[in-house]
Amino acid sequence: MTAVFLAILVAWIAILGAAFGSFFNVVIWRVPEGMSLISPPSHCPKCGARVRPFDNVPILAWLWLRGRCRDCKAPISVRYPFVEFLCCAVAALFGASILVGDWIGFASQTLSWGEFAEYSAAWDAAVAAFEADPTQKTTLTFDAYWATAQKAVALSFVWAFAAYAALILGFVEWDKGAVPKSLVGVATAVPVVGLLTILALSDGGALLGRCGVFAASVGSGVAATLLLWRAVPRLERAETAALGALWGFCVGYWGAFLGVLLLSGVAAAVRRKTGRNVFGLLVFSAILALAVGESVWFATC
Ligand SMILES: [Zn+2]
Repeated sequence: MTAVFLAILVAWIAILGAAFGSFFNVVIWRVPEGMSLISPPSHCPKCGARVRPFDNVPILAWLWLRGRCRDCKAPISVRYPFVEFLCCAVAALFGASILVGDWIGFASQTLSWGEFAEYSAAWDAAVAAFEADPTQKTTLTFDAYWATAQKAVALSFVWAFAAYAALILGFVEWDKGAVPKSLVGVATAVPVVGLLTILALSDGGALLGRCGVFAASVGSGVAATLLLWRAVPRLERAETAALGALWGFCVGYWGAFLGVLLLSGVAAAVRRKTGRNVFGLLVFSAILALAVGESVWFATC
């Protein structure tokens, strides 16, 4: 029962991730152009035909349209399903490691496999009692499952959104060579809000320990901001702050933190050697580190 339930939950998290990816395509394309995110609705840039709701399904629509506009057959960039796939994969990865992997650091204080196992055992016992004697009244409720499921989805997206923020900054930097201040501001806020959300979702007890991790994260974030600013020439102050916030957030996961440290070092070295703007590279290193750090913990516990 638990395995089926967890599989459904991870699938649901993955689908949500793909849907977010679809929206982020719009963000990556429109925000640097100063366009509204809502109007006009999605349309083909070539012929202007509106994208039908059916053809808006993330990843799959691009496949059944074979990468072409339904109306004018103009090619649709593979970038769109790629971003959707990345967002889907990131969410699925976090969802799976949160639900199936054991929790490390921050996470170990918030949710555990044991919570699900407990409900699963109660469920199995109730089913067995009903099978033994169908005349007796058995009350089964999904309330406990549901509460844990909501928490798992919320926590998955706290992590996923930190990665999404990095992803959006990376793609915009890649496309335009610069990131609008508004996007950098939001990207800085995302990991900070994420940290607070994790604190809020934590159950009582060990509050002092969690505050310790929180202080360490904020401290590391500020230190990382100052360090990056000094180490990487011509990096925008705001961009550095966004990276610093992400970095601080990673401290909750020590593996991810070490990954960011390593890859940021590589990016800074490339910047010094070649003179290329490496903000995009830094950002991709951050998302990679988040994903790899997470999955390494997942695989080793
Ligand atoms: Zn078209």
